[in-house]
Amino acid sequence: MDIILSSRGKNKIAYKGYIYRKDKDTQTTISWRCEVKGCKGRLSTTLEYESDRNCSEKGEHSHAPDVVKVGEEIVKKKVLKAAATTHDPPRRLLEDAIAGLSDELAAKIGSGAKLKSSISRKRRIMGNYVTSLNLTSLK
Ligand SMILES: [Zn+2]
Repeated sequence: MDIILSSRGKNKIAYKGYIYRKDKDTQTTISWRCEVKGCKGRLSTTLEYESDRNCSEKGEHSHAPDVVKVGEEIVKKKVLKAAATTHDPPRRLLEDAIAGLSDELAAKIGSGAKLKSSISRKRRIMGNYVTSLNLTSLK
């Protein structure tokens, strides 16, 4: 299970090729819903999901898992976050972000031309405000 930050600073999690967004909390668990509209796929985690990676799947997805798409999303978040806080060249950021992915996934994401231009764009937008950036507000 990987945790990725959504655009509004709320967590999304990726699990087995699906992406879930937070649905509701109870006293002991958090329930997450698949981000595909109309899909009935659900995931249930404990409140400490960031450290306790136990989770259980519920419901049926109306679509196939997409490990590559999910992998790309995770890499993109990592890269853009690093782009805002370091001065490493885009290629280096990309390499760091895909380290740890499966070889197949890394090969598919590896060229990352689109990502590299997002990094440059991100840095232009950030300008001199990088150091005062609140990471949770990253888009
Ligand atoms: Zn689904």
